[in-house]
Amino acid sequence: MKGHDAARKAWFLDRDGTIIVDRHYLSDPEQVELLEGAAQALAQAQQAGYLLVVVTNQSGIARGYFSEAEADRVDRRLAELLAEHGVTIARTYRCPHLPEGKPPYDIVCDCRKPRLGLFRRAIAELGIDPARSIACGDKPRDVERLPGLGIPQEALGIIGPGEGRYPDLLSFFRTVQQHGVGLGI
Ligand SMILES: [Mg+2]
Ligand SMILES: [Zn+2]
Repeated sequence: MKGHDAARKAWFLDRDGTIIVDRHYLSDPEQVELLEGAAQALAQAQQAGYLLVVVTNQSGIARGYFSEAEADRVDRRLAELLAEHGVTIARTYRCPHLPEGKPPYDIVCDCRKPRLGLFRRAIAELGIDPARSIACGDKPRDVERLPGLGIPQEALGIIGPGEGRYPDLLSFFRTVQQHGVGLGI
C-alpha cells in the first residue's frame, strides 16, 4: 500500500517575474530569459528532492493576445533553457481565464491565482505532500492562500525587487536549506 509517506515534496513556482524576466503577456519564445540565480536554485532544489511545479496565470490567452499553443511554445523554450542546467519542470499548470476576457475563456474559474484550483490539481495528480512543500512568486497572490492547503506559512517566499523579501530564487532556497523552510511572507 502506498502510504502518506510516499507523497513527495514540491516547490511551487510562479513563472513570470519569478523564474523568468516578466515581459508582460509574453508570447515570443525568443524573449524567454532566466532570472539571476533561477536555474541554480532549481537545480539545487531538484537535487534535494523537490518536484518543480510551475503554476501560472496567463490571462493574455483570455484577452486574445496569444493562443494556448503560443503559450506552450514559451514553456517549451523555458524547458530548453532549464535543461542546459539539468533542470526539469515536473509539470506546468496554467490558468488561461479572465471573466472579462473572450470566449471560451471568459469565466470565473477556480484556477486563477490567488485561487487554489491549480495547486489542488497538482497536489492530487503528482502526489505532493503540502506540509513538506515550499512556494515562491513575485506577488503575494501567488502564494498567500497556500496555507489553506497545508503549505506552511513560513515555506512561502516573495522574490524580486517589488514586494520581495528575497532578491531571487537562489537566496530563498539558501534559506530553505539552512532552516528547512523560508522566512514566510
Ligand atoms: Mg509573476
Ligand atoms: Zn482559470
